[in-house]
Amino acid sequence: MNNTALANLLFPDITKTIEDYEAKYPERNLPENAVVTRIAPSPTGFVHLGNLYNAIGERLAHQTQGVFYLRIEDTDQKREVEGAVEAVIDAMTFYGIRFDEGATTDGEVGAYGPYRQRQRKELYQTVAKSLVLRGLAYPCFCTEDDLKEMHDQQEAAKDNYGYFGKYAIWRDRTLEEIEAELAKGTEWVLRFRSEGDPENMVAVKDGIRGEVKVQENYTDFVLLKSDGIPTYHFAHVCDDHFMRTTHVIRDESWLATLPIHVQLFDILGWQRPVYCHTATLMKMDGTSKRKLSKRKDPELALSYYREAGFPQEAVMRYLMTVLNSNFEEWMMENPDADSRAFTFSLDKMSTSGSLFDLEKLDHIAKEFLSRQTAQYVYDGLLEWAKKYDTALAERMENKAEFFCNAINVGRGGDKPRKDFGSWKEAAAFLAFYDAETFAYEDACPERADGEMRSAILTQYLDTLNFADTQEEWFAKVKQITEALGYAAQPKKYKKNPELYKGSIVDVTNLLRVALTGRQNAPDIWEISRVLGETETRRRVQAYMNL
Ligand code: GLU
Repeated sequence: MNNTALANLLFPDITKTIEDYEAKYPERNLPENAVVTRIAPSPTGFVHLGNLYNAIGERLAHQTQGVFYLRIEDTDQKREVEGAVEAVIDAMTFYGIRFDEGATTDGEVGAYGPYRQRQRKELYQTVAKSLVLRGLAYPCFCTEDDLKEMHDQQEAAKDNYGYFGKYAIWRDRTLEEIEAELAKGTEWVLRFRSEGDPENMVAVKDGIRGEVKVQENYTDFVLLKSDGIPTYHFAHVCDDHFMRTTHVIRDESWLATLPIHVQLFDILGWQRPVYCHTATLMKMDGTSKRKLSKRKDPELALSYYREAGFPQEAVMRYLMTVLNSNFEEWMMENPDADSRAFTFSLDKMSTSGSLFDLEKLDHIAKEFLSRQTAQYVYDGLLEWAKKYDTALAERMENKAEFFCNAINVGRGGDKPRKDFGSWKEAAAFLAFYDAETFAYEDACPERADGEMRSAILTQYLDTLNFADTQEEWFAKVKQITEALGYAAQPKKYKKNPELYKGSIVDVTNLLRVALTGRQNAPDIWEISRVLGETETRRRVQAYMNL
């Protein structure tokens, strides 16, 4: 076969060489051990948790004065959705992930672009042509039907699947045969001519898993599809080489095709990056673990966390907890530190199915929010509400001080309340403060209902004095309790229930329902301070008349 003739036949317009690109994209001038890494999402419009999970590379890059960039893998035009690039950038920015270079909403930044794969066609074809010149790639004119037939034959013969050996029917054709097919206008793909042997094992260094051994690739996989656009495999190798990526952090599902990738790196004489295959996100389904699924699990979408209003730092803390085995301990020692201060390391990452657990996230988020100032919570809630609950945002802006005071109830001290972990939960929790959203959610405590309800509340209103200290106020509540035949100590009532109408718990729960609509709420006295005297009296009165 005349390789030069074939290369020119297939790529008549390609005049550049690999050397031209080596010169165009020189080695980066960075400190030794600096990490250059990226996320490389496909613009499908679905930004998933894994994108943020793998964006952890940002920490590695920035911890080492390296580079973190965004590459858009848009080789599959069928799956492309408008606005998808913006969605990725927006989601990453939301979580404080900073790109040093790559695709941006209005163009690109950086000297290693273009960062959108469809714009790199000439580069891929240049590399492809060099492989044809070396006799390492050839066109294949198989139709879908041909490939299906091949698959059926392999199935019947219980042979390995794939385009190889005797099944690789275009591997050894003559130039004339190829020319004839091209003249007919038959569609073709460019295949790699593999000399790999399935008996050979190849050792690959994985930054997370240590050394992994994979079977050498023996199939003539596709480099360029019929539209001249590369497959993921070929694009990955070309791009990560010419963008001078040092670490490829990606989901473990790519381990299966890793043999192809290392084979290409080796044959091209390029240094392999450090592969870092992250554990797939799993969840418990009943008693068994399974992969998070786009169809079944709304929490796989990154937008889920934003809509629910989990504070970004809480999500990052959670993610770090899942990702790095020593993070939780560090956080315990540094409860008020920003998670960015933690030194992230690849060797502390888990290698098998990372378990995702929303309850744990909620717990971390509650812990986090309980330690923030009322102003922080107010600002976060307002920002969320502006997007997801505009009526609340409006009320908050009209009554900023009131909302801040409400948020401040039970805050501070050694044991701050942990009532909400997300802005959505906060909105629901705080609803009772505002007369406009107040509702009776719980029933009146049974032992304080009927005549007693009115007797207790009447006395409460008669003795209520907003100038009282909390102690004075509580002494009065106790007095009413006893005067009306309730036990001032729950224990006493428990011992001799026949002697009492109930206990102080019934009385205070009644007050809680009157003031908050709920039996379970923060301190009544503190709530009354937020509501003010007029509103407190109005609510008590209203509940009496109900
Ligand atoms: N486009 C690939 C994906 O979204 C990128 C994998 C990689 O990081 O190389 O899975």
